[in-house]
Amino acid sequence: MDIQHNLNLIHQKIETACKEAKRNQNTVKLLAVSKTKPISSILSAYQAGQIAFGENYVQEGVEKIQYFESQGINLEWHFIGPLQSNKTRLVAEHFDWMQTLDRAKIADRLNEQRPTNKAPLNVLIQINISDEESKSGIQPEEMLTLAKHIENLPHLCLRGLMAIPAPTDKIAEQETVFRKMSDLFEQLKQALPNQQIDTLSMGMTDDMPSAIKCGSTMVRIGTAIFGARDYSK
Ligand SMILES: *Cc1c(COP(=O)(O)O)cnc(C)c1O
Repeated sequence: MDIQHNLNLIHQKIETACKEAKRNQNTVKLLAVSKTKPISSILSAYQAGQIAFGENYVQEGVEKIQYFESQGINLEWHFIGPLQSNKTRLVAEHFDWMQTLDRAKIADRLNEQRPTNKAPLNVLIQINISDEESKSGIQPEEMLTLAKHIENLPHLCLRGLMAIPAPTDKIAEQETVFRKMSDLFEQLKQALPNQQIDTLSMGMTDDMPSAIKCGSTMVRIGTAIFGARDYSK
């Protein structure tokens, strides 16, 4: 697995998608999703210049964070998995971003548990944009209520929205869903002009170009960087 080569290819794909969308390439940030992958893979990506990593499982993520801290390597860690309320403390204490916020109760706990010697925890509201079956994410109509709740929590910094659409290989369907997200993102910016709302996290290995076309500012890529995941272990 040549992680440096894969990262180069992804950067080229981001550049191509940005050109087609007449966007500047540096308006799209790459989050390397390293869940289930060993520390050695993260180290290879870091040595190729990658700084921001996404993890889905609290314990696994915290172990990796502590390893890199012990090595004096400063990375940026995003929690992107479902979070139960009894695990909020580890996220509040160790991560830089929490992308899957979908309940006021979780927001309150993260706010209380964020160490005051750290910068506020950056958070994204997860929207359940296409997959009614999924329990993760709030409905679009609930976005502003939750956003205004978060706005009053001093140890959280609301940065925008995140979504994991139901997978489809039909480009037109991908774009319809991503456009809805981009409309919500504009609504959020207008409703909270004093917040630093600058992040629309959408696009994975199989739908990245559509997401960039529709305004994504952060793509979350796992498979195309680190290879397929093995969940059997
Ligand atoms: C696993 C995961 C990704 C990465 O998916 P790939 O298809 O491997 O690029 C992105 N976002 C979230 C929330 C994930 O859980």
